[in-house]
Amino acid sequence: MYKYLFGPVPSRRLGMSLGVDLVPKKVCSLDCVYCEVGRTTKLSVDRQEYINSDCIKDELKDYFDNNPAPDYITITASGEPTLNLHLGEIIDFIKAVKPDMSIAVITNGTLLYDKKVRKSLMKADLLLPSLDAATDAGFRKINRPAKDLKVEDCIQGLISLSKEFKGTMWLEVFILPGYNDNEEELIELKKVILQVNPDSVQLNTLDRPGTVPNLRGATRDELQKIVDFWQMDKVEIIAKVKQTDKTQSYRKDTKSAIFETVSRRPCTLEDLMEMLGLKSEEIKIHLDALDAEGKIDKVEEERGVFYQMKNKNEK
Ligand code: SF4
Repeated sequence: MYKYLFGPVPSRRLGMSLGVDLVPKKVCSLDCVYCEVGRTTKLSVDRQEYINSDCIKDELKDYFDNNPAPDYITITASGEPTLNLHLGEIIDFIKAVKPDMSIAVITNGTLLYDKKVRKSLMKADLLLPSLDAATDAGFRKINRPAKDLKVEDCIQGLISLSKEFKGTMWLEVFILPGYNDNEEELIELKKVILQVNPDSVQLNTLDRPGTVPNLRGATRDELQKIVDFWQMDKVEIIAKVKQTDKTQSYRKDTKSAIFETVSRRPCTLEDLMEMLGLKSEEIKIHLDALDAEGKIDKVEEERGVFYQMKNKNEK
């Protein structure tokens, strides 16, 4: 079982994606109400090693030696990956060992005001920063940032990155009814999006338990109304990923793959079937075993029963 790699899983946006975790659960500069990973226990903008880069490189080498290549290596984290000081070094390492491998980085974008962070991202092929609010009130309400963070700095960083980065940029906006879907917020978001001018603007919403109880995701109609209100090119509603035959050729160590997946975000049985390309009976056997070992919890939600790592939301 890998400690810092997970998947590959079919991602909504990247096809078969091998995740690389650069900070431990749960180090982040934000504590978003909708976070699938759980409450942020270290809320900080402090860049540190967090995870030793040699340990990550060893796992990557082992993966490359023993498994088929995924479509993407996705640098992400159980938190915010740009907080890891060695982000640039890890990207350089992957490009040195696998020059043709596409690398994506998923970031909350809050540290982009720092030139060093922007520089470390330059060799990635695809950047997926997020921006959920462009007003101070909206930012504090939905993203609950570390105390030194200001929304204007995050926006300025994003604009600077868009000028410097030559690869593809998809900007994600996570919509939560009652949090960031009011007219003032949508108008301010649009102004920023026009300045950043990403290759795509991707509207996302909740489909798993967040960290605050009783949140609801936006409906397809509500998201479509935002698309219509903005009247901008390139805005898309992210659709759920479909099962692909390709999935079945990945990862033979099923129980580890299931545990790695639910450790990072809560999943229903159907999510796991879709992600791992396995039959429900096989997944159930491993879920029962993980349950009996006291490693996972079940949580009843509107979309069904979610499996997650035990005590996900404990501080
Ligand atoms: S959603 Fe992302 S940015 Fe927000 S708290 Fe979770 S890991 Fe951090």
